[in-house]
Amino acid sequence: MEKTKYKIVNISTATSTQAKASILIIYTGGTLGMTYDESGVLAPFNFSRTVEKIPALRQFDLHLTVISFPQLVDSSDIHPRHWADLGYIIHENYQRYDGFVVVHGTDTMAYSASALSFMLEGLNKPVIFTGAQLPIGSKRSDAQENFITALEIASAQVDGHPIVPEVCIYFGGHLLRGNRSSKRQSIHFDAFTSENYPSLAEAGVVIDYNLPAIHPYTPESQLIYHKQVDENVVILKLFPGINRKVVESVLQIPDLKGLILETYGSGNAPTDAFLLYTLEDAIQRGLTILNISQCSGGRVIQGRYKTSKSLENIGVVSGKDMTTEAAVTKLMFLLGTETSSERIRHRLPLSISGETY
Ligand code: ASP
Repeated sequence: MEKTKYKIVNISTATSTQAKASILIIYTGGTLGMTYDESGVLAPFNFSRTVEKIPALRQFDLHLTVISFPQLVDSSDIHPRHWADLGYIIHENYQRYDGFVVVHGTDTMAYSASALSFMLEGLNKPVIFTGAQLPIGSKRSDAQENFITALEIASAQVDGHPIVPEVCIYFGGHLLRGNRSSKRQSIHFDAFTSENYPSLAEAGVVIDYNLPAIHPYTPESQLIYHKQVDENVVILKLFPGINRKVVESVLQIPDLKGLILETYGSGNAPTDAFLLYTLEDAIQRGLTILNISQCSGGRVIQGRYKTSKSLENIGVVSGKDMTTEAAVTKLMFLLGTETSSERIRHRLPLSISGETY
């Protein structure tokens, strides 16, 4: 993305000339900043004008800058090129700001937060994704609380260092590690969960940070932005009765390089010979297969049951306790940055940015 392509608006909320922190808000679209159009459909609109009108912002001592994507998107339209744009904007502006708030639709927020956690190696400042279930102008909207608290978290410091120097999602009172989060609710305000990792903070009367769970600030670390991801991946969810034609046709997709196999329980799959044979053949042709459980809590333990031992024997990699969102984006990231399938297979089960143990 070139600088000229996005719109930049500066807003000063500071009551004194000494602002406590400067925050870059990147508005990508999503319900938070949407309004109903003439036909009654929700569509994105001018976000910076809305931000300027939030009275609570006047109580902050912050310098805010809003960058809006030139084409605002409902997050169902998010594409890896938007991750590259987000990474580019954060990397370009990294030294100028104390923290970043990304306003994003909830539908694919966990994918984007996961992707950015891999693409921004050595991140040492807060990147807080947030959004809302109702537009900011609606009665009973959750938008203002989510947005204001995300700003507060992005600017929170102790001894001159950020408290949360990692990619997170703040939503409905919970601050979650981005690559541990999943959208679980389409109606309730409490939309995201993190089954396998504790909340990094809970926001009530005060914001209670869970310091031992937060990635520590590392003064010497340098930001390295990786922009390449490879989209040639697929998710194959197992179900009783999945047949040979389905599995074979998925594995014959031209240029396919990686497959997330969504298995049962602790990583188990049917023992049908055709399934194992087809998967093994694909692995021998160079495809990387990652085993992720359909259960949102717990982890894959290949070899615990006979039904997962055979997957291990043919070279399926264990996805341990990763979310599907983290697994897909990690696979895309490693396929885009690593050159050999051995390296990809070696790095897949290891933590890159706290997405697994
Ligand atoms: N469809 C919307 C989006 O993801 C939903 C939301 O923002 O909550 O952009």
